[in-house]
Amino acid sequence: MTGIMQTIAVVLLAFLLLQAVLLFISSWRRHANHSRQQELSLKCLQTQIDSAKQELAHRQRLHKLSWQGYRKFEVKTKTPEGDSGICSFQLVPHDSKPLPPYQPGQFLTFKLSIPGQKKPVIRCYSLSDCYRESADHYRVTIKKISAPADKPKAPPGLASSFFYDHLNEGDILDVKAPAGQFVLDLKRDVPVVLLAGGVGITPLLSMLNAIVASGQNRETWLFYGVRNRAEHIMKEHMDRIRRDFDNVHICSCYSDQAATDTQGHDYHCAGRITIDLLKEKLPSNNYEFYICGPPPMMAALTEGLKGWGVPQTAIKSEAFGAASVQKAARAVKAKITFTKSKKDIAWDPQAGNLLEFALRNGIPIDSGCRAGSCGTCKVALRDGKIEYVQESEFDCEPGSCLTCLAMPKGDITLDA
Ligand SMILES: Cc1cc2nc3c(=O)[nH]c(=O)nc-3n(C[C@H](O)[C@H](O)[C@H](O)COP(=O)(O)OP(=O)(O)OC[C@H]3O[C@@H](n4cnc5c(N)ncnc54)[C@H](O)[C@@H]3O)c2cc1C
Repeated sequence: MTGIMQTIAVVLLAFLLLQAVLLFISSWRRHANHSRQQELSLKCLQTQIDSAKQELAHRQRLHKLSWQGYRKFEVKTKTPEGDSGICSFQLVPHDSKPLPPYQPGQFLTFKLSIPGQKKPVIRCYSLSDCYRESADHYRVTIKKISAPADKPKAPPGLASSFFYDHLNEGDILDVKAPAGQFVLDLKRDVPVVLLAGGVGITPLLSMLNAIVASGQNRETWLFYGVRNRAEHIMKEHMDRIRRDFDNVHICSCYSDQAATDTQGHDYHCAGRITIDLLKEKLPSNNYEFYICGPPPMMAALTEGLKGWGVPQTAIKSEAFGAASVQKAARAVKAKITFTKSKKDIAWDPQAGNLLEFALRNGIPIDSGCRAGSCGTCKVALRDGKIEYVQESEFDCEPGSCLTCLAMPKGDITLDA
């Protein structure tokens, strides 16, 4: 009997011991899990703090190095690109002080004193390389614009001809700090498709170079449309990237090949960049799309992408000039009062925007890009309401309006 009791007591003891061990293990596990979770949360918090610190340091550096108004830059090098009136210019700050960083896709605004012009000519040109910590210069790449096909007797582009024909190494230029919202966020790594037409390659080249320089393995496609080899700039550079980076796919499209242009060597696809080509080459439509090129190309691709189910938020584009601004001739009746010029004039919807309307009526308003990017045509709105014909890249404070994109909603008073 005592033996049985002893056995029961031993079994009970063993059972209790087992329970205690199991309890200990489970509580130890729970504790370990909790500590691991705490450790992970701490790590996550630390990463967030580090990235906020980096962002703050970046902003402080940007603030310290950036400048207001115009700064003197010297043309360090002038390099012809291809064979169709395009040149790259390396610009160094005349004061030799360091340059602020910029985001891929941003542009510079130039104030040019062109012989024969009464007023300075203001134009924007995209930065065509990415920011490099060690670099002492900015680079822009500019195409000399010829007269429009339907007006062959018109003078060629004012600023672009000045750059191409007259500007030389050692010349000094007035330049505003990098600006613009058409930028690639390097902190994200969503796959991107860059769609370039002609000299519209410049901001996209900056984005491509930035992706490559960042060491990100971000899936990147560049479709680059030109007429032929003569217009195909920086081909060797792009070939090198295509060869060296598995994550980058480059497809050059020639719409009007020369007899000497060879598919596979000079270019990849015959014809323009079309939505059908994108559907054929891309594994899906799940990308962010960045477009810069001639207005018809931008309009066709934007429509095509929307039709393919790409959300509007995933399509970003930049226009290079007034021709691309949608002119919405709304039949609003309005009186425009210009206070400085002391004129009241009935609004003519055919003008398309207040800048054009003012200039037609002899009211001087300075302008630059005429596409809502540079802010040069900003004027104080003293009274009344306006609407914009398209979204503006420039952050215009309340009480002022970008006349190149604005139309009156009724009677208005402008400080011009
Ligand atoms: C944000 C942004 C970035 C840009 N980036 C770049 C870039 O990287 N590279 C680049 O090359 N460009 C770029 N541009 C375009 C650039 O700013 C200029 O618009 C372009 O160089 C043309 O300017 P222009 O002074 O040479 O031509 P304009 O003198 O403004 O002339 C424009 C056109 O009008 C024609 N014209 C002139 N007079 C008449 C007339 N009387 N009748 C009919 N037609 C006439 C000209 O022949 C020309 O075809 C950018 C623009 C913007 C807004």
